[in-house]
Amino acid sequence: MLWTKNASSGSRIARMLHKSSKKSRYSKMFLATSGLLTVGLIGSYFSYESVRDRDNTHELSPSHFVKYRISHKQDIDPSHFLLEVTPLVKQKVNIWSQMTAENLWSIEVKQPEVMVVRSYTPLPLSFNPASKEMEVLKDGCNADGKLSFYIKKYENGEVARWLHHLPEDHVIEIRGPFVDYEFPHLPNELKRSRNCLDMNNCDKKSYIKGENSQFFYQPYDIMMFTAGTGVVTALQLLLTESPFRGNIKLFHTSDNIRQLGPLYPILLRLQASKRVQLNIFETDRQTKQEIVEIIGKSITRPYLYKGLLPFSNNNKNKFQPILALVCGPESYISSISGRKYDLSQGPVKGLLSSKGWNSENVYKLS
Ligand SMILES: Cc1cc2nc3c(=O)[nH]c(=O)nc-3n(C[C@H](O)[C@H](O)[C@H](O)COP(=O)(O)OP(=O)(O)OC[C@H]3O[C@@H](n4cnc5c(N)ncnc54)[C@H](O)[C@@H]3O)c2cc1C
Repeated sequence: MLWTKNASSGSRIARMLHKSSKKSRYSKMFLATSGLLTVGLIGSYFSYESVRDRDNTHELSPSHFVKYRISHKQDIDPSHFLLEVTPLVKQKVNIWSQMTAENLWSIEVKQPEVMVVRSYTPLPLSFNPASKEMEVLKDGCNADGKLSFYIKKYENGEVARWLHHLPEDHVIEIRGPFVDYEFPHLPNELKRSRNCLDMNNCDKKSYIKGENSQFFYQPYDIMMFTAGTGVVTALQLLLTESPFRGNIKLFHTSDNIRQLGPLYPILLRLQASKRVQLNIFETDRQTKQEIVEIIGKSITRPYLYKGLLPFSNNNKNKFQPILALVCGPESYISSISGRKYDLSQGPVKGLLSSKGWNSENVYKLS
């Protein structure tokens, strides 16, 4: 069965085409600048394959759909909700320790009635019925394979609306992971802990505890520009096991901050732990034009990615972004970085181009 992204178009996009487009979306900048990356890309692919039990049809896989039940659904406002799904069979693989912050990844949800799939970006959050809060998974724990999503429901949209109407315990089918962006692989690098986000602190010796501990390789900084549900890309990098090690400056725009629901306090905790520098904009308070002007003034020039360098404390507090990731609606991507086409990145224009960024260091995500 050929599951497609687009039910309404007469000529359905073939799965093959979709796959090849994903491949072309791999980290172009790092491929161009670091020979070591090629080894890393192959290495990370094989390490994922080797751990995954190929005969086990219950494990999450890009090649077949796996059944998950809706274990929690939480409305944030009329058009945004959180969805937690739990696999019917516990997952042996901890996908979060497999993917880490070296990969931005998504899964596909099947809508069986109209025979389409849609991509969603999982977050390592789990609903705690006692506290009634979404909690970040502890290091080393995969909550049996639970995945959570922050989803926007469009008025005439097909799949998000359908998902929103489904009752708890309804079974849906998911396949993945699909890598949307890949960072350089850091062989044998120490893992950064998430203890700063964990109220009940589960201590694991294999994780770096303090922020002063030394990594083997020099972390690099990035800027992220997100709008609406695009914020999930930043949250995935910040919340996954072994989270992003460098500094992230996040420019996020939504109608208002309430749309982020419980994700906003999590972002604030991340900022308090110096994992992210937040720049939040609300279109309910400012015009899009005003926001674009402020963002434009805050964008600094790009720094050169120098490959895998040994760790050094020099420049520790100096923000030196080597990559800009942009994720949001078409018009937002256009004004920040120039238009993104369905199957290609398109030239870098907009605010980033005016500050000296180009296709070597800008990546547009859908
Ligand atoms: C890698 C990736 C990760 C993603 N992660 C997330 C995520 O974590 N959370 C999230 O919310 N989304 C995410 N998305 C977007 C998601 O995949 C869907 O595109 C989104 O949920 C809309 O799908 P839909 O089926 O509900 O709406 P669609 O049916 O695709 O409709 C989308 C829009 O088109 C309009 N529309 C529909 N039909 C027509 C028509 N005939 N004419 C004109 N306009 C029409 C709708 O009103 C709506 O505005 C991600 C996308 C990608 C590619």
